[in-house]
Amino acid sequence: MNPVLYIVIPCYNEEEVLPITAPMFLEKIRSLTEKGKISENSRVLFVNDGSKDKTWEIIQNLSKQDEHYRGICLSRNRGHQNALLAGLMEAKDKCDITISIDCDGQDDINAMDQMVDEYLNGCDIVYGVRSSRKKDSFFKRTTAQGFYKLMAAMGVETVYNHADYRLISSRALKEFANFKEVNIFLRGMIPLVGFKSTSVYYERNERLAGKSHYPLRKMLALAFDGITSLSVKPIRLITAFGTIVAFLSFVGIIWSVVIAIIGKSVAGWASLTSILCFLGGVQLMSLGIIGEYVGKIYLETKQRPRFIVSERTYNEDENGEK
Ligand code: UDP
Ligand code: MG
Repeated sequence: MNPVLYIVIPCYNEEEVLPITAPMFLEKIRSLTEKGKISENSRVLFVNDGSKDKTWEIIQNLSKQDEHYRGICLSRNRGHQNALLAGLMEAKDKCDITISIDCDGQDDINAMDQMVDEYLNGCDIVYGVRSSRKKDSFFKRTTAQGFYKLMAAMGVETVYNHADYRLISSRALKEFANFKEVNIFLRGMIPLVGFKSTSVYYERNERLAGKSHYPLRKMLALAFDGITSLSVKPIRLITAFGTIVAFLSFVGIIWSVVIAIIGKSVAGWASLTSILCFLGGVQLMSLGIIGEYVGKIYLETKQRPRFIVSERTYNEDENGEK
């Protein structure tokens, strides 16, 4: 039996690009089926992440046109990571493999052939990695590369230049379903699942239409979330830094006492205020970072659902071609 593939695609306000890329995904399913690599029952699964434009209508119409298209609609916008998670969780019991990809055509869908080959060779997770970023703007390229470096420096294990274009087997997804945290950063969490994995390389293109939803602000937020949800290294750095500062102040105290004793003390207003300001700043920053972790714990303890599916283009019970 050939494996059933679900291509999982989060969409947020993508009415411009969806009509262009949806047929490309369908075509990919067709060609893979014809090559005898995947089953007839494979599907393109769109996740509408609470779009404010006509995205959901487009998905509904597509699913009426061809049974290979399916869609689920989230009850509101939950962000890319949660939308993707919703799609993966929806797909995991209906298929053997999932491939997640953005709907803007930036990631080369032809890399899917190789991903499926790697799966057939026994890999459970196949990362799509960008071989070059020539087509990204200078700004996007530098900020994105800074992002991966920062993650690595802060102790988060990620695959360099890999975003969320990847194949995951349903076996790995079923294990991943036990990762219950609400702060999710998929590209840092999936490597924790383990299993045999590999990477395939592809060229990243420009968006076919519409515009990016990841400005610098969101990218920084993603990096911050990724770091604080996967690593305690920043807290350790604070501890180390605090120790160094404490040691230096100790030396400073001895020095000032000696100066006072030999009677050479002068009114040191400037040095005093600068030390005060510096320490005040360090303390506030440290509290902020620790507060970020406390906030994360607060969110985790509430155990709110990570997404809510409000609609489907198909009947949920007719799960199972499989
Ligand atoms: N996306 C989403 N919810 C959001 C923001 C984005 O589902 O709140 C989807 C979006 O439709 C796209 C993918 O996430 O399929 C990646 O977004 P985008 O292309 O804007 O990011 P970039 O490629 O510029 O990093
Ligand atoms: Mg994009």
